[in-house]
Amino acid sequence: MRDASPQTTYLKDYTVPDYLIHKVALHFVLDEERTEVTARLTLSRNPASLSMSAALVLAGENLTLQRIILNDGEELAAADYVQAADSLTIYNVPQQQPFVLTIENTINPKINTALEGLYLSNGMLCTQCEAEGFRKITYFLDRPDVMATFTTTLVGDKSRYPVLLSNGNKIAHGELEANRHWVTWEDPFTKPCYLFALVAGQLECIEDHFTTQSGRDISLQIFVEPQDVDKCAHAMQSLQNAMRWDEAVYGCEYDLDLYMIVAVSHFNMGAMENKGLNVFNTKFVLARPDTATDSDYEHIEGVIAHEYFHNWTGNRITCRDWFQLSLKEGFTVFRDQEFTGDRTSKAVKRIEDVTMLRTRQFAEDAGPLAHPIRPEAYIEINNFYTVTIYEKGAEVVRMLHTLLGAERFRKGSDLYFARHDGQAVTCEDFVKAMEAANGVGLVQFRRWYSQAGTPVLTVSRRYDSQAQTLTLSISQECPPTPGQAVKEPLHIPVKVGLIYPDGTIAPCQLQGSADSAEEVILALTEAAQDFVFTGLSSEPAVSVLRGFSAPVKLVMERSLTELAFLLSHDSDTFNRWEAGQQLIGQAITGLIADVQNNRELRLDPIIIEAFRQVLAQPWEDLSYFSLLLSLPSETYLAEQMPVIDVVAIHTAREFVKLTLAEQLQNALQTLYLNNHRDESGCFDAGAIGRRRIKNTCLNYLCALDDPALKNWAHQQFKTAKNMTDQMAALTVMVNNPHYARRQCLAEFYQQWQHEALVIDKWFALQAASPAPDTFATVQALMAHPAFDLGTPNRIRALIGAFSQANPLHFHAANGQGYQFLADQIIALNTLNPQVASRMISALTSWRRYDAGRQALMTAQLERIMSTEAISKDVYEIASKSLA
Ligand SMILES: [Zn+2]
Repeated sequence: MRDASPQTTYLKDYTVPDYLIHKVALHFVLDEERTEVTARLTLSRNPASLSMSAALVLAGENLTLQRIILNDGEELAAADYVQAADSLTIYNVPQQQPFVLTIENTINPKINTALEGLYLSNGMLCTQCEAEGFRKITYFLDRPDVMATFTTTLVGDKSRYPVLLSNGNKIAHGELEANRHWVTWEDPFTKPCYLFALVAGQLECIEDHFTTQSGRDISLQIFVEPQDVDKCAHAMQSLQNAMRWDEAVYGCEYDLDLYMIVAVSHFNMGAMENKGLNVFNTKFVLARPDTATDSDYEHIEGVIAHEYFHNWTGNRITCRDWFQLSLKEGFTVFRDQEFTGDRTSKAVKRIEDVTMLRTRQFAEDAGPLAHPIRPEAYIEINNFYTVTIYEKGAEVVRMLHTLLGAERFRKGSDLYFARHDGQAVTCEDFVKAMEAANGVGLVQFRRWYSQAGTPVLTVSRRYDSQAQTLTLSISQECPPTPGQAVKEPLHIPVKVGLIYPDGTIAPCQLQGSADSAEEVILALTEAAQDFVFTGLSSEPAVSVLRGFSAPVKLVMERSLTELAFLLSHDSDTFNRWEAGQQLIGQAITGLIADVQNNRELRLDPIIIEAFRQVLAQPWEDLSYFSLLLSLPSETYLAEQMPVIDVVAIHTAREFVKLTLAEQLQNALQTLYLNNHRDESGCFDAGAIGRRRIKNTCLNYLCALDDPALKNWAHQQFKTAKNMTDQMAALTVMVNNPHYARRQCLAEFYQQWQHEALVIDKWFALQAASPAPDTFATVQALMAHPAFDLGTPNRIRALIGAFSQANPLHFHAANGQGYQFLADQIIALNTLNPQVASRMISALTSWRRYDAGRQALMTAQLERIMSTEAISKDVYEIASKSLA
């Protein structure tokens, strides 16, 4: 519930804790409605604290306190402590150090719909403690810089809770009267309480093992509900791959004897890296070829790896405070991106990550919620698990990697691990380790941590045929963001390559340097700088920001002809794709203006020719090939417009798709047929590539009003032996007029009604459709028996997909989409504030739309603000959106 005025927490106010907790012994008697918690804490005053007489203030919410005992002696009298809604203060702390404090309280997991602390999911008890959920379990110093060793005993009914799990190694277990049993777990590594976890329920386990580089044998266990045991093989394989990769690339070895993963169907986020006991959203564990798509498989491997990598970057070394969240998340996202690139296709992975960054993070950076990767203030920390902290945070680590090179970056990470193992540290400590290991200074680079907003690089060039030089003039500018009017120049790595008109690589030799290379990393540190390349016998085409070497917007004037040239000749896979996207993007931008002015639409033949050439070439990486053939998304196109016009964007983009399909029909048909196999689906690059290119072709072909081609989709739907193909076919049938649309949707539901994750896809697909009846469909689906506001995955599938992946219908001019979303946010505000506040993002960017839509969107934001008992989560995002 909302305080009278929600409190803001500031980074500048950080002080060390007044007390330290060294040892925690937890004892749980588990019950759905009344779980008894006994916490025995060994504490002492923190010698680093300035206030050696401070009272002990523990955080706690929604707890029923039973009693408090000091030093195993007498119970504290009511006069010895003060209990408030969110804290417990004990004044007369013993002189003797350390001392023992035992607190007994009860909690009710059943009514915990916020899914923080201890809660119930399909009869299973589980926890989520990051960021501040542990205070909903017991009174504690709930902050990441208080690190303790934990011993946890779980007592429960043997039939309801045959499996009892917590962090660390299982050290004892036994039977009790009344059909109960108990298990004790011990985690020898100190950790902050946000990494605590417990799970209890009727779970099946699949087991394997891993031998570490030093020869230790680790037992690996995945726990799922009984019906899902046949969907764990890929997750297990992914875990082993991640363990091997982390040893090879970072020298990081796993430390406990046991690594457990539990899949839970009610989960606010993706997954949680609790020490030795990861808790996962089922979406990122369960996969069978007939139930999960190739992209599900890839996400599972990426998320399993991400949480595993946290064991070193997050658990062994954690954050001092939550402002440092990007220390663990930025670095770990960078690590999982590199892992996935190594496992699949580096080119494809980079393109997908950049696409996500540019559509979602750039939008955040340009809006009212812009914040640096190390924010200065928050009201509710749950609101700061953002694309900026994660994805831009990863880009900042990537830039360090680019500037230092792989070898020196590794020296830096080795030093970081050696210096800080077992500590709670800051982003500053990470940068210092990179500096110290390599004898470099990164003073200016630090601005990336404190400055919000997306810098704009403007590049111009001048070729001097007499001197045989090329001058690149690069300037940087960052627009103001809330609270940061003035921006300082950043240290930006700009990777550049040059290509002669005959397609050969031109040498990159900077004036005054003896080195010549195929590409060069320019260090842009000033507001404007010139870089002169020498020894160029003719004017080369310039490939700038290769591999997307910095999270910036690039402005550079280039003709369609030059872009078409780069699309066929750039040796950098990212920039080659980027040239194609620029080419088609420019064309669509022109067509959007034509739509707005009621002009006849015509696609420039140069675009058709460029696509024809791409189609004519032999491509080894078929996934990359399919990205070259893909159009920029409506969301990405919207980001490029000063005032977003969703109808014009949709109309122009559909026109381009249809025209390309008409003009290239034969080539697309051949490509489809050449790659269409009856495969049962397997996660190998060749098969994934074939499915991807084939389904890209199908998507074009079904835009054509041709019954024979529509039948291809129908046939593929009926005969598909894997979810990728079945889903791709159903998607084109739902997104285009199709004779079998209703029938196939009904069949799909019949077939998969017992597979929750597949039914999520069924909801999302309909919610994101451009079909004219979508809004009515979404309303009807809200009343579907399979819809449930208590399941975050289902909320994201229906409400999330409609508001975030269907710009055409969500932004309907009459405002019905906005009103619908606000209704759901208000309903979720009390049920699950964390999920509710995430849904607001669709309204946050209201300034980007026309006056009519602005008025409708702000009216709904104001309605949300006037909700009774508004949560801190929702209040913070809604009020900042309006500010
Ligand atoms: Zn993470």
